[in-house]
Amino acid sequence: MRTVQLLIAGRPQPAVAGATFDRANPQSNQVVTRAASAGIEDARLVADAAQAAFAAWSRTGPSIRREILLRAADLMEQKKSLFVETMQSETGATCVWAEHNVFAAAAILREAASMTTQIAGEVVPSDEGRLSFAVRQPAGVVLGIAPWNAPIVLGTRAIAMPLACGNTVILKASEMCPATHSLIADVLVEAGLGNGEVNVITHAPAAAGEVADTLIAHPAVRRINFTGSTRVGQLIAERAARVLKPVLLELGGKSPLIVLDDADVERAVAAAAFGAFFNQGQICMSTERIVVTPAIAESFVARLADKAARLSVGDPRTTDAPLGALASAGAGARINELIDDALARGATLLAGGKAEGVFMPATVLDGVTREMSIYHEETFGPVVCIMRAKNDEHAVEIANDSEFGLSAAVFSNDIERAFAVTKQIRSGICHINGATVSDEPQMPFGGTGRSGYGRFGGKAGIAEFTELRWITVASTAPAFPI
Ligand code: NAD
Repeated sequence: MRTVQLLIAGRPQPAVAGATFDRANPQSNQVVTRAASAGIEDARLVADAAQAAFAAWSRTGPSIRREILLRAADLMEQKKSLFVETMQSETGATCVWAEHNVFAAAAILREAASMTTQIAGEVVPSDEGRLSFAVRQPAGVVLGIAPWNAPIVLGTRAIAMPLACGNTVILKASEMCPATHSLIADVLVEAGLGNGEVNVITHAPAAAGEVADTLIAHPAVRRINFTGSTRVGQLIAERAARVLKPVLLELGGKSPLIVLDDADVERAVAAAAFGAFFNQGQICMSTERIVVTPAIAESFVARLADKAARLSVGDPRTTDAPLGALASAGAGARINELIDDALARGATLLAGGKAEGVFMPATVLDGVTREMSIYHEETFGPVVCIMRAKNDEHAVEIANDSEFGLSAAVFSNDIERAFAVTKQIRSGICHINGATVSDEPQMPFGGTGRSGYGRFGGKAGIAEFTELRWITVASTAPAFPI
């Protein structure tokens, strides 16, 4: 069992009240982590520590920031086994997904490092002959709130670019993976951020609201980024609105993959299966809906069902099956209800079936319609719904018949046709002839509608985590009217 403390001003500390909470492995139910359980007072102390570190860190030049972030990336890769073991024990992920998390998170740190010299402003022509600048400055303390499903990637994403921009940060860890999230801060501290530039707060599930409230309301906190469910994202946005603080929201998804009738079926099936079932469908960009057009529908659906039936499920601790465990048995029970509802309303099960505890086979449902809850709700499990469109226009209509709008994909061998469809889809991200699940740290990543707003990645991230200021230098004494 691992023990995790709060990280405040570079020092691991217990919660003020001495409370702890436990995280159990989803498969064995054995406690794998005992973490400090913070409350309101701890949240204030963490924010105070981040504020105290801001003046010095915000004045550092790009070379120092870049060097530290690059060192942290190397350390993360060197400690790959520790990260992988910790993440697997807390979330039930497969080894492949956990290793991908390490490499992708290291890439995020390197991209953030490279952006330290790109935090550029501009000289704007002035009618008054002044030297007039638009300048980007660090915003202050940035609060990052991350989920458990891609914990190393998303915990790192929440704080890497904010640090590169000269902000100090607080990572509010998920109650489902406190040790994994804390490890991210540990490598940053080891890389040179041991003076409160990076702080971590862990808390029991019931304290999430009060801890987040306290941090959002703290005067030092100037930016908030949240990755997680749409339900909690709305709460965060409401709280931030009360104190007029900008929030970046990366929320749920219901990503569609459209297969036009001239698509390469093999390629589309491979991308659909990867997008729907990787990490047991517990990725915000997971392919949850497949919209097929008539001429290709039968061959595509048959091949996808066949592929799904051949994907095995197993305990990641003892097998290397492509599908591991869900994060909780409760998630399985919720997905089963959605499947029961769909079957009762006329859907057909082509592959897979129900979750048993935390294990669930790759499942394909055909004939999914608007009357079924699964048509609208994010399943966040290894289930994909087939919807049949009459033609390209109808396919776009179905793809857009969702309140979510994170990722999408269009398969066609006619690039103009695919592009015409892509332009009409309401989503932050769309891949032509690629899977809905895809990310690179330099790309503008984010959604629309109930998938949130704001963008991580590259220069878009700089805009989120800096204050854009207008600064002038007068050339002559101005003639004021009074
Ligand atoms: P979640 O919303 O339950 O938890 C996310 C974070 O919110 C955690 O840190 C948690 O402690 C915190 N939280 C929970 N209740 C809170 C409350 N009342 N007040 C303040 N904070 C609270 O989400 P999850 O189950 O951890 O993650 C899965 C969800 O995240 C899915 O909907 C998925 O689509 C989404 N997600 C989105 C992206 C993206 O980039 N758009 C990436 C990954 C996951």
